[in-house]
Amino acid sequence: MDGTLKENDLSGVVAADKAHVWHHLVSHKGFETTDPKIIVEGKGLRVWDQNGKEHLDAVSGAVWTVNVGYGRTRIADAIRDQLVQLNYFAGAMGSIPGARFAERLIEKMPGLSRVYYCNSGSEANEKAFKMVRQIAHKRYGGKKHKILYRDRDYHGTTIGCLSAGGQQERNAQYGPFAPGFVEVPHCLEYRAADQGWGDLSGEAYGQRAADAIEEVILREGPDTVGALCLEPVTAGGGVITPPQGYWERVQEICRKYDILLHIDEVVCGVGRTGNWFGYQNYGVKPDMVTMAKGVASGYAAIACLVTTDEVFDLFKTDADDPMDYFRDISTFGGCTAGPAAALENMAIIEEEGLLENTTAMGERLQENLRALAEKHAVIGDVRGAGLFCGAELVADRASKEPVSEALVKAVTGDCMAQGVIIGATNRSVPGYNNTLCFAPPLIASADDIDEITGAVDAALTRVFG
Ligand code: PMP
Repeated sequence: MDGTLKENDLSGVVAADKAHVWHHLVSHKGFETTDPKIIVEGKGLRVWDQNGKEHLDAVSGAVWTVNVGYGRTRIADAIRDQLVQLNYFAGAMGSIPGARFAERLIEKMPGLSRVYYCNSGSEANEKAFKMVRQIAHKRYGGKKHKILYRDRDYHGTTIGCLSAGGQQERNAQYGPFAPGFVEVPHCLEYRAADQGWGDLSGEAYGQRAADAIEEVILREGPDTVGALCLEPVTAGGGVITPPQGYWERVQEICRKYDILLHIDEVVCGVGRTGNWFGYQNYGVKPDMVTMAKGVASGYAAIACLVTTDEVFDLFKTDADDPMDYFRDISTFGGCTAGPAAALENMAIIEEEGLLENTTAMGERLQENLRALAEKHAVIGDVRGAGLFCGAELVADRASKEPVSEALVKAVTGDCMAQGVIIGATNRSVPGYNNTLCFAPPLIASADDIDEITGAVDAALTRVFG
C-alpha cells in the first residue's frame, strides 16, 4: 500500500503545527532546526508521514495504544453507526454499547463485576484512588487511606497520579504532591544489586522485593494502608517484568493486611502481554483494575475502572445516608463511541487470534533481541511479556553503567531513518535508563518482528560498532 497522501491537502500543515501545536513529551527547541513529523495515514502496523515515507510502527502509536493496528474500517463504521444513533448521554442513564461492552469485558475478568467508564488512564486511576479514600472514610474513620505505589511505576499525569508516581524524572518540578501516597521498592532483577539485599536472583529476589512491600506496610501501620497500586509489567519505568513468585507474595500480603490490590493495566490491558490482562499471567486476583490505551486501540478515547462486587457493594447507598455512594462523574464517560469501538476491538482480537499471535510473536521478538545481545555487548538485559519488550543498553556489562542518553537517541534515530519507529524509556534517570522499548500492534507477523530487530541490529552496529 502506498497510502493516499496525494489526496491529502498538506499545504501549510507543518507550518501550522510548528506555530501552534504544543506536542506531548518533547522539548520544542529541536523544532527550531527540524520539522515535526506529521503522521498522515496508517494501515496495519505501517504509517506514512508528510513526506510519504513509510514507517513500521513498533510502538503502536508512540505510547503502546493501537493494539489492533491502523485502518480498521470495521471499528470506524461501528463508531459512525453509533454516533448517528446516539452520541452521548451521561450520569445515571446508560447506553446500549456501554451495557454490552461492560458485559463482554467482565466475561474476560473472572472475579470482577463492575465497569466504571471514563476517558483516560490517569482519570481511571484517580477514580480508584478516590474509591480507596472513600472506603477509608466509610469503614475506618478515614484512617486506612494510604495508597502504596512502586518505585519506577507510572500511573498518570494528574497531580494525584504523579503523587503515586515512582518515576522521579517525571515528578521533578510538579510538586508539592498529594499526601497519603507512599513508595515501595521496585522489582527489577537486573539491577537487584543496587537494592542492598545481597546477591539475590529469580524467585528469591522476587520474594525479597515483595517482602519489602510488607516492611513498608509495617512501618506505616497496616491500619493506615488502604491500597497497593501496581503495574503488572512496569512499562515506561523500564519494561520491568517481575520474577516468579513475586505476585503470589504480593497477593498474600494484601490479604494479610486487608489492603485493596489495584492493578494498573493501562498499558498491559486488552492483549498486550498475550493474555487479556497482564495480571492474568500471574494468577493474581485484584480488587480494582484500570485500563485505557488498548481498550479501543486509540479509535476512541475510553478508559475503564473495573471492580469486584465487594468494592461495588460498599458504595450502595443506605436509605438513611444519601451521600454514601460514589460521588463522582466523568463527563466524557458518557460518550458512546468508546464502548462501541471497544466492542469491535475485542471482537477483532478474538476473531483474528491476536492473543495467541502476541504470545508467539513476543517470544520471537525476545529471541531475536537475545540473539542481538550475543552480538552487541551494549545490550545488558532483554525482558518483556508478550509484545511488550525492552532491551536495556549498558556501557559496560560488568558495572551495568547505562549508556548516555545521546547514544540511545542515536539508536532510535537510526531506526527511524530506516523506517522503523522504536521507543526508549526513562532516558534521563541514571541507573535505570536507556531501555529500548518495543510494543508493535498485536497483528505483527514474523517478518515484521524480524524487520524490527534487523533495524535495531543495523543501528547498534552503526552507533556502537
Ligand atoms: N498508567 C500507565 C501504566 C501508563 O503507562 C499511563 C500512560 N502512559 C497511564 C497510566 C496514564 O494514562 P493516560 O495517558 O491515558 O492518562
